[in-house]
Amino acid sequence: MNLSTDMQQDMLRQRLQSLGLPAQTLCTAMKQHAARTDETGDIPSSFWEQVNVRALNLNLVPPEHGGDEGLWPLMQRVLLMEQLGYADPALALALPGPGLATPPLLALASKEQQRALFGRFQSDAPVWGGFAITEPDVGSDATALRTSARECSDGYVLNGTKCFITNGARADFVVTFATVDKGRGRFGVRAFAVDRRTPGFQVVRLEKMLGLRGSQLAVLSYADCLIPKENLLQRGDESRLHDAFSGAQSSWDYFRPVLSSVIVGSCARVRDELAEYLEAASPKAVRWRRLHVADMLSSISGKISAARLLCHKAAWRYEQGLPVSKDSSMAKAYASRIAMEIAEAILQTVGLEGLHDRPVFERFYRDAKAYDILEGTGDMQRLMVTRLHQRQGVEDGLLV
Ligand SMILES: Cc1cc2nc3c(=O)[nH]c(=O)nc-3n(C[C@H](O)[C@H](O)[C@H](O)COP(=O)(O)OP(=O)(O)OC[C@H]3O[C@@H](n4cnc5c(N)ncnc54)[C@H](O)[C@@H]3O)c2cc1C
Repeated sequence: MNLSTDMQQDMLRQRLQSLGLPAQTLCTAMKQHAARTDETGDIPSSFWEQVNVRALNLNLVPPEHGGDEGLWPLMQRVLLMEQLGYADPALALALPGPGLATPPLLALASKEQQRALFGRFQSDAPVWGGFAITEPDVGSDATALRTSARECSDGYVLNGTKCFITNGARADFVVTFATVDKGRGRFGVRAFAVDRRTPGFQVVRLEKMLGLRGSQLAVLSYADCLIPKENLLQRGDESRLHDAFSGAQSSWDYFRPVLSSVIVGSCARVRDELAEYLEAASPKAVRWRRLHVADMLSSISGKISAARLLCHKAAWRYEQGLPVSKDSSMAKAYASRIAMEIAEAILQTVGLEGLHDRPVFERFYRDAKAYDILEGTGDMQRLMVTRLHQRQGVEDGLLV
């Protein structure tokens, strides 16, 4: 990493400013609308009046399709998402743009497909993309998915159900993973861009969420959805086509550090709120109490710094074109675990009164559980890290 984080943050601020995305304005709007979004799951219309919608739409669009070059490197994105997570994690995940659909489009779609799909985000109204792999009976072992894609003369006919799809009801199109041959496991999996207007495609319901309500997880059903051949994501490169699952993996590799940064940002926010709350609650506290508070806050700060560094390491490796699955999983497993620990510590310290006085504590407690599950559970990340570590043998950088 050749730039200090402070310099990177300054560059990011300037970049956001030049983009018409003044970070301060965006974060203020997010903070202002966090409680309402949590209450209803909807983003209030007044939010859109305060922010530059087109710039948000283009946030995860690659530069060659209209996105901003300076925001494109994963390190910049990780810094940005920490800021947004600090403002409000649920809204950070609910903002418009292609979202999780970006990495599989980059990995699997042809240039024409990318042009057509990323082109949809050139709009002054909010536009979302979606990514659908999880099914009611298939979460952690995504290779066992059941949604079927039967080839026919006009394209493919999709049948199945997907669940927990972030922004699923808002999405203009959903990159949907389905199998053409269940017997072939991951090698039977294909990815399709499913337009929300496709006959047979239906948003069955929105999940009633404990936390991260703004991200509106949806259950989607596909009943004899006829998907034109040109919506099968393929570059004409057969090896990629036959391993569309690697497109999903590329999504996770890319997004785990991004999501972990949202988690880091939200941990930093509650740490700051906790410090302020405790200071206001007992400014003249006796020495032993001040020491106890300092011990807790510095321990929380240490964990946040460690989680942040894991995100930055994963982002850096990604930028260098190095294998990143282990680092991305480590960042995600660690960030979500410390979020749970911090949530517990806050609850123990501030009690019900504190939860009532600062709703952000209560929201954080609810969000922390979702952090552990989304983008693969903590258990799965730890298994993955261990497996990859054993396969890799020696820790990076060690000479023996
Ligand atoms: C906020 C949020 C957003 C999400 N967004 C999306 C999205 O946009 N698109 C999408 O496709 N999905 C999305 N998901 C779904 C998410 O990826 C899955 O929930 C997750 O992969 C876990 O799958 P599951 O819920 O079926 O749990 P299961 O796989 O049923 O796991 C249940 C429990 O068993 C444990 N477990 C499972 N298998 C093993 C094993 N082999 N060894 C040890 N323990 C195991 C798990 O750790 C977990 O504790 C989202 C989820 C959340 C919470």
